[in-house]
Amino acid sequence: DELISQIAAGEVVERPASVVRELVDNALDAGASQITVRLLGGGIRGITVEDDGAGIPESELPLALKRHATSKIRDLHELESVHSLGFRGEALAAIASVSDFSVTSRTTDAAHATRLDARSGELRPAARTVGTTVEVRELFFNTPARRKFLKTEATEQAHCVETLRRQALAHPGVAFSLWSEGMRLEHWRAASADQRLQDVLGDDFLLTSRAFAWEVPSLRVQGRLGLPEAARSRADHQYLYVNGRFVRDRTLAHALRSAFDDVLHGQRQPTYFVRIDIEPEQVDVNVHPTKIEVRFRDSRGLHQQLRRLAVEALATSQA
Ligand code: ADP
Ligand code: MG
Repeated sequence: DELISQIAAGEVVERPASVVRELVDNALDAGASQITVRLLGGGIRGITVEDDGAGIPESELPLALKRHATSKIRDLHELESVHSLGFRGEALAAIASVSDFSVTSRTTDAAHATRLDARSGELRPAARTVGTTVEVRELFFNTPARRKFLKTEATEQAHCVETLRRQALAHPGVAFSLWSEGMRLEHWRAASADQRLQDVLGDDFLLTSRAFAWEVPSLRVQGRLGLPEAARSRADHQYLYVNGRFVRDRTLAHALRSAFDDVLHGQRQPTYFVRIDIEPEQVDVNVHPTKIEVRFRDSRGLHQQLRRLAVEALATSQA
């Protein structure tokens, strides 16, 4: 079972940034309003994620580390309409199988927090306020082949920062802090969506981008498209979300790129922030272990719609 977990870990946990993504998703699912991420050695030596969410009851702590144990969906039918970021129940088990792992948690009705050390399985009373702290040390210490594939600490840290940036953009109402080696690198206070865009992507993007929004009962598409005079347009500033999840989607990326090409003729790499909120039944998020890809029921329709909206928004800005 240990081996199976380690193999599964290969699909979910590629590098420190994958751990950050999974732990922060869990904190968001737990309703946290403040999330703190602490890195050591670019996340290779240590990743700690603290939240003030609902916590895990002591009796459920061991279960949280079991493979395919999730509190978020109860049956296959619910998989058709997932509202949480997590639902596969794989992440904690996978991460714990390739690191030195502990989780400390407290619910509102508990007299104290409880810490579970994954290696020993030992449960101990601990001190903390309501919420959860997950500590991951020495990622891949027991899978040297995988550890060898990690890049420098600086590169791994940059991936962690980018991952957190993606999550922060989608959840402006949640405050995020990021620390590295005891120094605070980022702090994004709880804010409006526009304020969060400004805090994370800079004044430039907010001031020069064009906003658009469109909505029917089953679908809402909204976003901001960066204009070419905002010279700092970068390929890695393309943020696309489906139901609060950062995704890569070729069809939608194409819709946006072709709109930019049409209206602005050959801008290099468009910068954009686009979020699509769609009925969960209209999208399958269970296509990829890391959930970075999704499948739409009507991807052609969505392509047309998004392209039309983007062309309109960009054309208005030309006038
Ligand atoms: P999933 O998120 O797919 O359910 P995970 O392996 O990421 O699976 O987490 C397993 C379970 O542990 C979750 O379903 C949840 O009940 C609990 N859990 C994990 N992290 C947290 C957290 N930060 N706060 C509250 N509960 C958590
Ligand atoms: Mg999860």
